Amino acid sequence: MSVPLTEIVDYLDRYLHVADVPDDERAINGLQVGNRGSVTRVVASVDACEATITDAISRKADLMVVHHGLFWGGLRPLTGVYGRRVRLLMEHSVALYASHLPLDCHPEVGNNALLARKLGLRDLVPFGTFEGTQIGFWGAIDEGRDALVTRLQEIVGGTPRVVPAGPIRLAKVGVVTGAGTSALTEAVELGLDTLITGEGPHHSFLEAEELGVNVVYGGHYATETFGVRALAAHVGQRFNLPWDFSDHPTGM
Ligand SMILES: [Zn+2]
Repeated sequence: MSVPLTEIVDYLDRYLHVADVPDDERAINGLQVGNRGSVTRVVASVDACEATITDAISRKADLMVVHHGLFWGGLRPLTGVYGRRVRLLMEHSVALYASHLPLDCHPEVGNNALLARKLGLRDLVPFGTFEGTQIGFWGAIDEGRDALVTRLQEIVGGTPRVVPAGPIRLAKVGVVTGAGTSALTEAVELGLDTLITGEGPHHSFLEAEELGVNVVYGGHYATETFGVRALAAHVGQRFNLPWDFSDHPTGM
């Protein structure tokens, strides 16, 4: 089975509402690197780095779907680490499709909606404004803090870091995957008792403590594997293509 790359890209751009989701002006959502024109196998990964690109090549993929693409720092020469990533993709005719905030905020295959549902949050409402987009979701729950942390641990496969500055009994919990502590103030304004995110800067501990809100850090990588997996599965089903997930945890 071989599908034209343009057909998949057009579909993904529409499905993810790429044109309507604001992002960092230097982020490119959509096709970042083209291939010779057709796709027979898809590999999803959180990051476009040498390890996952090499893995995708060894799995004979011709399309990678990632959350963190190549372009973050504006214009850069294609040299060093950065040049090697691009050269590997182009030499092996592997296309790269990146979806950053459009994949964070998507209600079906987004990192935040998926993690919130896995945690058992009900009646999800978007929140967590980042670059003009509400990327997170909050929902209702009636559970003890320890139980929720244990469930997060089972879901992400690692020990979460907890700032226990809010209530022990939880009623309103927000999820902003990745580096989401910028949503802390908004979370408190909405009356949330807990924010679940991936990672945060040192000062976020103190901010949470003084705001009186629980923060649980589940890991940047670990909280962002769900979206690309779901997206690749969706593409695989829609276009009848095989797909794999290339797991390359950073532990951060
Ligand atoms: Zn991220």
